Amino acid sequence: MKQSFYNLNFNELENLLVENELNSTAASLLYNWHYKKKNFSPCTHNISKKTLNFIEDRLDFKLPEIDTVHESSDSTVKFLFKLEDGSKVETVLIPFNNKYSICLSSQVGCAMKCSFCFTGTQGLKRNLSTSEIVGQFLQSWKWLADNRGEDKRILNIVFMGQGEPLHNFDAVKSACNIFLSKNGTSVGNQKITISTSGYLPGLKRWKEEIPGVNLALSLHSPFAEKRNELIPINKKFKLEEVLSYIDDIPLSKKQFITYEYLLIKDFNDSEVDARKTGELLKGKEAYINLIPFNPFPGTEYQRPTDSVVNNFKDILSEYKIPTLIRMTKGDDVLAACGQLNSKD
Ligand code: SF4
Repeated sequence: MKQSFYNLNFNELENLLVENELNSTAASLLYNWHYKKKNFSPCTHNISKKTLNFIEDRLDFKLPEIDTVHESSDSTVKFLFKLEDGSKVETVLIPFNNKYSICLSSQVGCAMKCSFCFTGTQGLKRNLSTSEIVGQFLQSWKWLADNRGEDKRILNIVFMGQGEPLHNFDAVKSACNIFLSKNGTSVGNQKITISTSGYLPGLKRWKEEIPGVNLALSLHSPFAEKRNELIPINKKFKLEEVLSYIDDIPLSKKQFITYEYLLIKDFNDSEVDARKTGELLKGKEAYINLIPFNPFPGTEYQRPTDSVVNNFKDILSEYKIPTLIRMTKGDDVLAACGQLNSKD
């Protein structure tokens, strides 16, 4: 049975070739062809007949297909990808300064059931494979090149789409290895961010196994009761435990931790909430992203007014914590944070 080329990190590919008594230099050629040059056609240059036969017999180069594309008025692009088993996941390209960040999905649905999240309403269907994660990146890149010109590039990768990435650790780690590989896409580790709801078993592995990659923690409230409602796994992996674990992580020079705070009208947007958040994070190597909630069909939560959002930011600045209000992009195609749901 064939295995997907896109599931193999560079070392695994080299080992596979060596185990089959083939020259391991073909690994560099294949990585260069498919990841650096982003060719989708088979690589035949400088590869021996014997290796080509092996590749044809043993490797499969299928990628998830783009099912639909929605382009927002602010240039955000939302893709719905169709996977081999018919499942669908979403990927979003978010424009900034004529470049793009890509928001990747890591699971079909999600087990975390965050109450503010459209995806959470689906429950977990299954984990994505490495090739299904890497495939979102490659297909999105190709679409950009074909539709918006060669100069449009994806500079940042964020695991903030459907799924809790640290709950599908092995595939996400392997995809990061491929993105980071100097032989492949060669994305710098400061350009990759993994966003987590606070799934502690995965956080512990992240520290040991994917060093240097940035982390974003969904904070959303400093109060246990409110956070329990928003992120039910807070009952199991308590915020204090998660924060104290993060505090002990030695960060490299350009590495940073971002705390995401979704602002919901009359729920977690008061002065008391802001001051408690400031107390909790002051003195830490922290950035805060404030995200005004984006209502989706069926939710009771509402978006606060701009003046409430600005006031929250002003209070945090008293605690000397760098805070950004994240401009919501792609609202008109439901591509904003917490709005992804691949149900038709
Ligand atoms: S916010 Fe993230 S972790 Fe929570 S249910 Fe949605 S996809 Fe899962």
